[in-house]
Amino acid sequence: MKIANREQSAVELVREALAKAHEYQDEYHVFNWINDDAIRKAEEIDQRIAQGEEVGKLAGVPYALKDNFLSPEGESTASALILEGFNSPVTATAVKKLEAEGAIMIGRTNLDAFAHGSSTENSYYGPTKNSKDVERVAGGSSGGSAVAVALGIVPFALGTDTGGSIRQPASFNGVYGLKPTYGAISRYGVVAMASSTDCIGFFTHEAEDLDLLMGVVAGQDKNDQTTLPDFYRESTAKTVKKVGIIKDFDNEAVNSEIREALKRKIGTLKAQGYEIIELEMPALKYALAAYYIIVPAEVSSNLSRHDGVRYGYRSADASSLGELYENTRNEGFMPENKRRIMIGNFVLSSGFYDAYYLKAAKARTLIINEYAKAFEKCDVILTPVAPNPAFKLGEKINDPVAMYLEDVMSVPLNLAGVPGLTVPAGKTKSGLDLGLQLVGPRRSDRTLVEFAKVLEEVK
Ligand code: GLN
Repeated sequence: MKIANREQSAVELVREALAKAHEYQDEYHVFNWINDDAIRKAEEIDQRIAQGEEVGKLAGVPYALKDNFLSPEGESTASALILEGFNSPVTATAVKKLEAEGAIMIGRTNLDAFAHGSSTENSYYGPTKNSKDVERVAGGSSGGSAVAVALGIVPFALGTDTGGSIRQPASFNGVYGLKPTYGAISRYGVVAMASSTDCIGFFTHEAEDLDLLMGVVAGQDKNDQTTLPDFYRESTAKTVKKVGIIKDFDNEAVNSEIREALKRKIGTLKAQGYEIIELEMPALKYALAAYYIIVPAEVSSNLSRHDGVRYGYRSADASSLGELYENTRNEGFMPENKRRIMIGNFVLSSGFYDAYYLKAAKARTLIINEYAKAFEKCDVILTPVAPNPAFKLGEKINDPVAMYLEDVMSVPLNLAGVPGLTVPAGKTKSGLDLGLQLVGPRRSDRTLVEFAKVLEEVK
């Protein structure tokens, strides 16, 4: 379905989306909250259309919102107990812009608490299930948003991507997932994970819809000083001629069906006259280690605001202010949140700052430079998104390092601030979805979206 193609009334569209949301909820646990009131907004839009009023580009289009976006509709929980009961007075800029064009939020989707994770199993409310196999993970952290689109509940969903949280669940569920250039979309009103790598983006069924959504949501925002001037609407897509592939990613640790899917695509592109450039990017091997130092450092700082005084949950068991902080945080955070707070405090502590944080920051610079060099040789890079297709529920949850390793191919982009787009790339023999990731230089988002449309035709 093309989201701009309004052939049904808003009420019909929203009613259908809500019916599907309820139908799938028990089996897949896509949503933390379903917004049954959405129907009222749809009625309003239909009335405005009937009166001949100008309605927006997305009038009546239902969408799903990752539960780490703030808005007064429903509780904004980030799937963590510590934010349970939190009704935000703030509306995220991305949400405001979508709603100004008439889009209607039909539910808040499940995630790993505070977006820490790669499977949505770290949610306080339990995991979301994969759209093709309910014994497998949805991917994460935006698992609910990916599955909402994959099951056809909504034509698009909002997510956040700090280290792969849009691209990896998109690939695990056979949908498109765009992490734009850092700063393309305002982060205002989104629960902060790691402010230097957090990006807002979308899941869709079609590449073309990403273009429409970027046109609506991207742009500078005075409430987020890291937003870039409006480059998306003003940029033109570059014609891609040279496609880079990363040699170091073609190794035994990567699932063979993923490597075959990449080879197939590359083979077809070559046959169609594209030049394939083999890249050596040795600094990328530092990306995962650097990410798991820099991100926890920022997490520990961003999560310090949750103290049981200002937002959501407060421990009932406290006889002093110190105990109130301690017990609220102990009870309200998930184990993975606490792990990151501890790692973050450790790598920032005076004795270890030079050995860990500073080194990681230097590795980050090497990675940024390496992408810059790579894009002198090619227009885009095509790589796997993750080393494996959707894994089994429970398979990695007790082994944080195994879980972190799943992020090895997605985190380098966030460290460098470059955009990445997951494109569906067929299925495994057992029917699981496969995806590949298009990577471009900063501000090449439009090129990626246009080239994704080309890849749609390249089987
Ligand atoms: N899986 C990565 C992590 O756990 C990425 C999470 C994200 O992008 N929010 O840090």
